Amino acid sequence: MSYQFELEKGSTKHICPACRKKVFVRYVDTETGQYIADDVGRCDREIKCSYHLKPGEYFHLTGENPLRKRLLRNDLLTRSIKVPDEKPVYVPDVLFRGSLQHYEENMFFRYLVQLFGTDKAEELCAWYCVGTTKHWDGACVFWYLDDSGRVTRGKVMLYDNTGHRVKGCTNSVHSLMKLGALPELHLYGLHLLRLDKTLPVAIVESEKSAILAAGHLKDFIWMATGSLSTLTAERLQPLQGREIVLFPDGGAFEKWQEKAESMSRKFSIRCSDVLERCLSDEQRKVGYDIGDVIANECSAFRNKIAQLD
Ligand SMILES: [Zn+2]
Repeated sequence: MSYQFELEKGSTKHICPACRKKVFVRYVDTETGQYIADDVGRCDREIKCSYHLKPGEYFHLTGENPLRKRLLRNDLLTRSIKVPDEKPVYVPDVLFRGSLQHYEENMFFRYLVQLFGTDKAEELCAWYCVGTTKHWDGACVFWYLDDSGRVTRGKVMLYDNTGHRVKGCTNSVHSLMKLGALPELHLYGLHLLRLDKTLPVAIVESEKSAILAAGHLKDFIWMATGSLSTLTAERLQPLQGREIVLFPDGGAFEKWQEKAESMSRKFSIRCSDVLERCLSDEQRKVGYDIGDVIANECSAFRNKIAQLD
């Protein structure tokens, strides 16, 4: 079965999820004329921004079935139409466990050591089950464990020694190992719920920010959505009964605020504007996140210590 998606024709432009400029062209489903999701599309600033999330990558990332989505949108989902439902495949234990070593080669781990020191870096990698892979030299794996501890997916990423992502170096364990259908997407860090029964949950966008924040602020269990558009009521369900605080990236406050409001009947949820208030216009434009703020603070602290020597 083939699904047809193309970049929307005409002059309609949206806000780019990466650079926040109104130069973003979304993909549409050619059969329904519907957008796929807010962040599925291509930024026109090809050199300066180059954000491009293709429909295939989005469906892979979210585990959504494009046909199901199309049927639901068309209100055609009747008993007579069969939606192919593949059985989800969890990550084999041996693959997961095998990755929890060789941290000396792991660039993300080394970055954590720079910020927090070795003990804390090891503790953070243990909490979040950060793995190491040779897929790219120095690459790490952000494993997603659900609330019963099953490994549902792994995101392979490469960071440079300043903690920035290396462009083009992101992949998924399911596609690399040809594991089959992805289980439903859930929050990154969901397995940490079991560690404490009362702590409020803080949600950020990227896995890196969640881990950096966890190293710095102990008042929350830190989780990540993994991307901008994947924050839904369904995915917050396991947090029912907890206090939830959203910490959007710079420039994304209004969007997350709207989401928080729309879900406030069901959940005890609010959106923090602390980042929005402390960022400069320039930082907001480039989508500074809480991870960047913490990294800067840690570096400033390190410099002060160095001057004392
Ligand atoms: Zn852009």
